Amino acid sequence: MHKASRSDHHLETRAVHGGEQVDELTGASAPNIVMSSTFVSDDPAGFSIKEFEEDRPYVYTRWGNPTIEMLEKKLMSLEEAEHCIALASGMAATTTLLLGLLESGDHMVISDVCYPGTAEYVRESLSKYGITSTPVDTSQAELVATAIQPNTKLVWVETPANPTLRLTDIAAVADVAHAHDLPLVVDSTFATPVATRPLTLGADYVIHSLTKYIGGHGDSIGGAILGSRERIEALRNDAMIHLGGIISPFNAWLIARGAATLPARMRMHAESAMQVAEFLEGHPAVLQVNYPGLSSHPQHALAKQQMDSYSGMLSFQAKEGDATAHRFAKELEVFHFAVSLGHSRSLMYWVPTEEALSTGLSLNAAQTERYREFAGDGLFRVSVGLEHPDDLCEDLARVLGN
Ligand SMILES: *Cc1c(COP(=O)(O)O)cnc(C)c1O
Repeated sequence: MHKASRSDHHLETRAVHGGEQVDELTGASAPNIVMSSTFVSDDPAGFSIKEFEEDRPYVYTRWGNPTIEMLEKKLMSLEEAEHCIALASGMAATTTLLLGLLESGDHMVISDVCYPGTAEYVRESLSKYGITSTPVDTSQAELVATAIQPNTKLVWVETPANPTLRLTDIAAVADVAHAHDLPLVVDSTFATPVATRPLTLGADYVIHSLTKYIGGHGDSIGGAILGSRERIEALRNDAMIHLGGIISPFNAWLIARGAATLPARMRMHAESAMQVAEFLEGHPAVLQVNYPGLSSHPQHALAKQQMDSYSGMLSFQAKEGDATAHRFAKELEVFHFAVSLGHSRSLMYWVPTEEALSTGLSLNAAQTERYREFAGDGLFRVSVGLEHPDDLCEDLARVLGN
């Protein structure tokens, strides 16, 4: 009765079918949730992870669970990855990967603009274990090469990057990393597998915050790491099972349900984001709009080549940013003034420049100056949701004035 999902199907079909199978007992078409923490065994087995085998029966949910596995298989299918582990959050995915791959004395090269949680963790927590990092502008692949040291163990990029929407040429940076025998990690949360499949461009690991577009409904937190079977199995057997940051089967089920509609949602997110970006670009109170789909984006050509969708994230600079932020927070009606992104509801948040600089990675003087020049007094980060774009533009126009 069960037919495995096919890898030659289109992305939309794989999003729906990936990882799912008809329940053999009941014939249920939609996926079940298996919440059980433990599984009955008819064979005395050990407790050590060293006895953990790929095709084992389920033992304990921290080791593996059918509902979590369904989500992992759906994500593998979307990212064209051999293997995947789903975790409790995007940060659990990030920390599991970094603690799994790095040890005391190691060094990493990282995008000089990236998600604040990643930046803070690398700067403040990894340094406690004697792991150092060099932030670089990864949009220039040649700068990555100059930052590599004898003890460098990985290269980490985020594209499009939060909150500047700067892009990194994944294939170019993969070439640099591989020339030094280093793995390339791509945080592809903003792009989603609808826009970009980093593994097909040479990346070795992909990180997602599933909380964002892939879950898509703003009601469940999760994360994932994808890559080759060998690399992901090594992380599963050590970092995932021992650090224990696994996802709840209930959240895995919610996120898999969201992932089924990802391609359909991304089409509308991207179309509406383009309309909002063009509206903002033409508004007299707006100084600059950053959206990969705009021809004014300095890397629009790379966006066209690397992204099948420009996604729904944009940022902009307004005159009198701080005062405007206070007005947005009080007066927006359709947008929620809130962190996070990728939900059905449109979200906006204010990223003041001094705060971004003081909480981010330890940038050098030139990098700090470049960020200040780019961001002015701050950036509004906008996640364009699934409302009608005319209502979104009207909401913005009402607060920005004419
Ligand atoms: C949200 C986010 C994360 C962290 O994910 P959580 O699910 O909140 O832990 C990491 N990277 C990017 C780019 C994000 O947007």
